[in-house]
Amino acid sequence: MTSRLKKAVWLHNLPRLGGPAQVREFVRKYAGEGFDLLIPCVKNPDGLLDYQSCIGVVRPECRSWDPLETLAAEAHKRRIRVHAWYCSAKEGPKGALLKKYPGAVAITRDGKKAGDGDSSFVCVARPEVRRYEAAIMKEAIARYDIAGVHFDYIRVGDNTCYCARCRRVLRRLEGIGPDKIRMWGRMPARWFQWRCDQVTALVREVARFAHRRRKEVSAAVFSGVPDAILNQGQDFVPWSREGLLDLVAPMNYCNSPWLMERYLRNHIAQNAGGLAEHWEGLGRYCMDNRGQFQAQLDAIRRHRVRGVVLFEHHHLKPADFRLLARY
Ligand SMILES: [Zn+2]
Repeated sequence: MTSRLKKAVWLHNLPRLGGPAQVREFVRKYAGEGFDLLIPCVKNPDGLLDYQSCIGVVRPECRSWDPLETLAAEAHKRRIRVHAWYCSAKEGPKGALLKKYPGAVAITRDGKKAGDGDSSFVCVARPEVRRYEAAIMKEAIARYDIAGVHFDYIRVGDNTCYCARCRRVLRRLEGIGPDKIRMWGRMPARWFQWRCDQVTALVREVARFAHRRRKEVSAAVFSGVPDAILNQGQDFVPWSREGLLDLVAPMNYCNSPWLMERYLRNHIAQNAGGLAEHWEGLGRYCMDNRGQFQAQLDAIRRHRVRGVVLFEHHHLKPADFRLLARY
């Protein structure tokens, strides 16, 4: 007897649903479809916050109402859990962090700022960055009637960070500059581990705070493990083993069920001995047809993975819900 697959959905841009009535309707829809968890984004990569924060800059559309409070109240009534989703290592010029610390923008290997004008990766190795990113998550944990918080962009970023400070650490640990870094063979492993440790420190800070208040912590992580250690400074395995995460969702966004299953097997192996529940993240938007969706759900069930997180809300059609109801 296989138990029912647990289901969650990611939703970008709560305020874009329209207003309080649409937010409540969104909750009722997923509660009615038997979903277990909603993951609404409350901090997008532009760094603005979609709730009445006392710490960060609130998105202008959200100043007259509180999308997170509206959603949390309805979700409480409908008995569906909510994890408020934060794009952690991403900030924009209108956000509170970069207004105060413009020098926190991460630097690429060729010495450029890591981002466009609207959104940049920030240097997670900086204490002021970790302090701020943790503070806004703690605020939601303490003040809102939600089950927990959700990490995204919880990594150093694509080909970053090589700011003066990170380069100094590379020099101290490995005695080399960025141009001498090898991604195979004789690698600067101490430096790769140091980068992971910086990201883990942020997860740990938030997790300790959350767990003391009986709230949960989840994370969307890169599908390719352990390569994400090298490319992104992201190693979710210690987060799971240390009990920092209650739920981990590798973003297995792929149209091919064949390839998806190969990643899936690796996620199961990586999370062995971990305390986080493993739900597979599926990118419905990148599948060519519903048959691929069904084959991926079948693989999840075959491997006895506990749940699925879907990216994202507006890509799900009525026939997708009918299919999901069978799992
Ligand atoms: Zn840096």
